Amino acid sequence: MNDDTDLDELHWLMGVVHSINVGIIVIDRNYTIKLWNSFMENRSGKRADAVMGKKLLDLFPEVPQQWFERKVESVYTLANRAFTTWEQRPYVFKFKNYRPITGASPFMYQNITFLPLMGTNGMIKNIGIVIYDVTDAAVGKQQLETANDELAQLSRTDRLTQLNNRGYWEECLEAEFDRYKRTKQPITLIIFDIDHFKNVNDTYGHQAGDEVIRQTSKTLRRTIRKTDIAGRYGGEEFTVLLVDTKTDNAMILAERLRKRIEALTVQHEDLKIEFKISIGVSELNKDTKDYKQWLEEADQALYYSKENGRNQTTIYSKEKMGELKDVG
Ligand code: GH3
Ligand code: MG
Ligand code: MG
Repeated sequence: MNDDTDLDELHWLMGVVHSINVGIIVIDRNYTIKLWNSFMENRSGKRADAVMGKKLLDLFPEVPQQWFERKVESVYTLANRAFTTWEQRPYVFKFKNYRPITGASPFMYQNITFLPLMGTNGMIKNIGIVIYDVTDAAVGKQQLETANDELAQLSRTDRLTQLNNRGYWEECLEAEFDRYKRTKQPITLIIFDIDHFKNVNDTYGHQAGDEVIRQTSKTLRRTIRKTDIAGRYGGEEFTVLLVDTKTDNAMILAERLRKRIEALTVQHEDLKIEFKISIGVSELNKDTKDYKQWLEEADQALYYSKENGRNQTTIYSKEKMGELKDVG
């Protein structure tokens, strides 16, 4: 091969390097830039003649220096490629994302490969850095994940009240039961049901009934803490797991809720509707066999409230429930 052939080779090779749609940088042992292709010129806004011979990290203060040096040095030491993906680090070089289709992200997401470049003596002289623009794939994946999260959220949520639906709430009940077995942190379950709700529907119509259910859940949400887990268990039946709460405080909360509902007037069209609720309370204890028994106890307490005249709260106890059977 004579010199002309060498130059010809180099010429077309440089053509490829400059037209390819990935960023290519070559740096030497001192991080001095030796090659800067057109992709890099376009995306960084820095021309090749302005960066040649400069130190890469001086030009890009946003690049985390220690991390970058560790990557490069590992390539020298191990004579092996190194990678970084957008999932580990969305970008290394902060390039604006100009692509309208992925306008959702202000910056270009990047996957980067660090390549050892051998000299003719077999020693690594330079490092090649290849930067792939993976914005489309990254944004697509993030949108998919967001959509999946929203779907999961929807599948757990009751449409009318936005509370947890029965299926998901029962999963929480089971999980909290299991947690109690490990931690013994107090937790109390309350269940309540609107009194004579059939009358509400019959008197004011189903739409008015729906509004009563909505307002009930709103009042419930205002009364409990963020960490408590509320669900719509059935038509006009609601359940709440009061975490870190024993019977006495659960009773205070239940009574506050009951009184708030009693004082509430639901406005639907030009109707004014008043209604009441009955409540059952059951604190989890070491004798409770499983989560079903726990729920059953709260339900029995609710039943006791109904049987005793409604608009009241009952705490579950074996004695009390026995009393109910005697009456029944
Ligand atoms: P009690 O005091 O014993 O609880 O009497 P109740 O009339 O509330 O009795 P019950 O629990 O049997 O009645 C519930 C009614 O709730 C029956 C059903 O038609 C109605 N319902 C269930 N789901 C909905 C709903 O989503 N919207 C409306 N408007 N009504 C519902
Ligand atoms: Mg009812
Ligand atoms: Mg009911």
